[in-house]
Amino acid sequence: MRKYIVAGNWKMNTTVAEGVELAKAVAAKAQDLPANVQLVVAPPFTHLVSVAEALKGSKVALSAQNCADHEKGAYTGEVAVNMLVDAGCQYTILGHSERRQYYGETDEKLVVKTKLALAAGLKVILCVGENLDEREAGKHFDVVTEQTKAVLYELSAEELKSIVVAYEPVWAIGTGKTATAAQAEEIHACIRTVIAEKFGLEAADDMTILYGGSCKPSNAKELFAEKDIDGGLIGGAALKADDFIAIAASF
Ligand code: PEP
Repeated sequence: MRKYIVAGNWKMNTTVAEGVELAKAVAAKAQDLPANVQLVVAPPFTHLVSVAEALKGSKVALSAQNCADHEKGAYTGEVAVNMLVDAGCQYTILGHSERRQYYGETDEKLVVKTKLALAAGLKVILCVGENLDEREAGKHFDVVTEQTKAVLYELSAEELKSIVVAYEPVWAIGTGKTATAAQAEEIHACIRTVIAEKFGLEAADDMTILYGGSCKPSNAKELFAEKDIDGGLIGGAALKADDFIAIAASF
C-alpha cells in the first residue's frame, strides 16, 4: 500500500527553542489530517532530541537531514546512524542536492549511507533531481534514472521497502520556480518504471515518490493530484506550521 508523506526539511534554520515551537505547532495541527498522510520533520542535528520530545504522542515522525558514511569512530564532525536512532529519528534524508552540490556527496557514498541507515532501522528519503543545465540539455530523464539506479539497484527488495524517493529538480529548489504538475509527473512515472524494471510492478506501485522544489499551499493540490506524486519534500514552506499543514491538507 502506497503511503502519502509530507516531509519538512528545515535545513540550517531555527534555534532549538524555535524548532521545538514549530514542531509543537505542527504536531497540534497534524491531529486533523487524514490517517493516510504521514508528516515528517527534519530539523538540524542539534535539535533532534528536543524536537523528538516535542513530538512525543503525535502523528509526526522525526528525520535527520544526513548521516555519516561510517558506523562510528574518528570522523570529526559526523553523526552516525545509531546516534540518529538514539536521538529519536525514524527517517533520514540522503542525497539532497545541496549535499551533492556543496559537500561532494557522490552516488557511491550514498549507497554506503543508505545501507547503514537501513541497517540501523531508519527509513531513507533519497533525493534525486537534475540541475538547470541538465534540464535545458534535455538530459533530465537520464540524470534521474542514473541517480535512482545508482542507489536503489544496490538494495535488496526488502531494503527497498524502507525507501522513499524525492524528486527535486535543482532549478526549482528555493527559487520560487516550481515544476509544472505535468513536468513532475513524467519524471515520477519514469522513476516508478526504473524501480519496476528491477523490483517488479508491485514494489514500484508501493513506492512513495515525493516532489520537492518550491512546493507551497498554492500549488500542492495540483501537484498531489497527479497519480505518481505521493506527497512533498518541503523546504521554505516547512518553516511555517500553517503553510506546512496546508500543504499536507492538499491531498
Ligand atoms: C528542499 O530543499 O528540499 C526544497 C524542496 O526546498 P524549497 O521547498 O524551499 O524549494
